[in-house]
Amino acid sequence: MKTIDKIYINGEFITSQGTEYFDLISPVTNEKLGQVILGNQKDTQNAIAAAKETFKTFSKTSKAERIQYLKNIQTAIEKRKEEFINTMVEEYGGTLQFATISYTYMLKSFDSAINLLNTYDFTKTMGESEVQMTPLGVVGIIIPWNSSNGFICSKLSTAIVAGCTTVIKPSEMSAQQTQLITECLHEAGLPKGVFNIVNGLGEIVGAEISSNPDVAKISFTGSTNVGKIIAKEAVNTMKRVTLELGGKSPNIILDDANFAEAIPLAISAAYMNNGQACIAGTRLLVPENRLEEVKKLIKEIVSNTIVGNPKNETTAVGPMVSNKQYERVQNYIQIGIDEGAEILIGGLGKPEGLEKGNFVKPTVFINVNNKMRIAREEIFGPVLSVITYKTEEEAIEIANDTTYGLQAYVSSLNEKRAHKIASQINAGRIQINGIGHDPMAPFGGFKQSGIGREFGTIGLEAYLEPKALIR
Ligand code: NAP
Ligand code: MG
Repeated sequence: MKTIDKIYINGEFITSQGTEYFDLISPVTNEKLGQVILGNQKDTQNAIAAAKETFKTFSKTSKAERIQYLKNIQTAIEKRKEEFINTMVEEYGGTLQFATISYTYMLKSFDSAINLLNTYDFTKTMGESEVQMTPLGVVGIIIPWNSSNGFICSKLSTAIVAGCTTVIKPSEMSAQQTQLITECLHEAGLPKGVFNIVNGLGEIVGAEISSNPDVAKISFTGSTNVGKIIAKEAVNTMKRVTLELGGKSPNIILDDANFAEAIPLAISAAYMNNGQACIAGTRLLVPENRLEEVKKLIKEIVSNTIVGNPKNETTAVGPMVSNKQYERVQNYIQIGIDEGAEILIGGLGKPEGLEKGNFVKPTVFINVNNKMRIAREEIFGPVLSVITYKTEEEAIEIANDTTYGLQAYVSSLNEKRAHKIASQINAGRIQINGIGHDPMAPFGGFKQSGIGREFGTIGLEAYLEPKALIR
């Protein structure tokens, strides 16, 4: 059994001063895989102090130096591909398919960062003045478990581009993945203190990062509830915040779409990462007069969706990360039933033969209206709500009738029509006839899906403070 008792401060693996342990539990078997020591407030303060000291020099490094550091990290990560994928599969139940894609995105985030350094001008002229885009300072990076190393790589690489130093608090549930990335970052030979990583609880390590006056900015990915707590705390010291929060993304299938392609895509959008994705397309909006056809297609696809051990290449839906998350999803399925929605496929309980793990039956509700809780709240599991609409206008109205606005999907064979609909949806990203990622385009949410954007120039500028020299 593994015991992870080291955290990473000022270029060294050191033993945490925490005294409590957190059990690492397999989502497939619910057996204990290991344990991680939970860092405390003092550990966090030491990490922040190291980042603060290093900022004095790292903020002055050249573009060429930063590019070299990014390349070094990428090289170190490239060497351990299998371990990255396997640990992700084992530790949180991400499917082999998803873990492999995530690994590729992780590596690509360094290419995007290098691209930014090669193209971004940190000195601009605005009006009569010289405007210097200066690094903000120490950045606190607080992230969830559902794509832990992906978030570390995208946020840390942007911080390096900007010349900021960092203190990272991953989820304690990702301790083994964190150990691996820390080893790679260590190997990359960055100046001591550029990145510091403290395992521990949100209420302790996360709270210290959010309140400490020496942290200039928080880049947070996680739930809307915790995002609000962090933003309230951050305002006391006027920290900048970038908040990537939850979603309840609509997927509009227009009547002229190719249903044989759009419906399978809709199922993938809903069940990606076992349904534990902020961008999951969890509200499927279909024309009322095409419902029977949609039902038939969904039944066919979902009954052929393989649920099971995430290690198997063909598995499309693995277990929920924890028993707690399993219970949460069960609770929402019950809420749907109680609200009067009808289960088309799936339902309560575990699939046969998978009773040991946190497996959920991929579920689709029909007869859902947009006022129901299953249409309004983020479930974070493989549960899809089908909602019918009569007109295009109604489809847009339903799509926008949500407190969220992270992502949306539109399917139509008429590109102009799809573009026109997409332009009317209030979401940070709208996917037309597909599911893609553009690492140089902004990513983030409207409304309660967050504040600010990541990726590309807009993402970078959230790590910079403009300074105008007026002559
Ligand atoms: P979460 O509970 O909000 O936790 C996220 C992180 O915040 C964890 O590291 C957590 O620590 C920490 N935290 C908890 N309480 C805190 C506090 N009081 N102060 C500071 N930090 C605190 O989210 P989750 O359940 O792990 O992840 C799922 C959520 O993330 C979903 O809502 C999903 O939509 C969202 N998400 C958003 C995006 C996006 O890009 N928009 C991407 C992925 C996921 P602990 O580990 O101790 O809880
Ligand atoms: Mg949590």
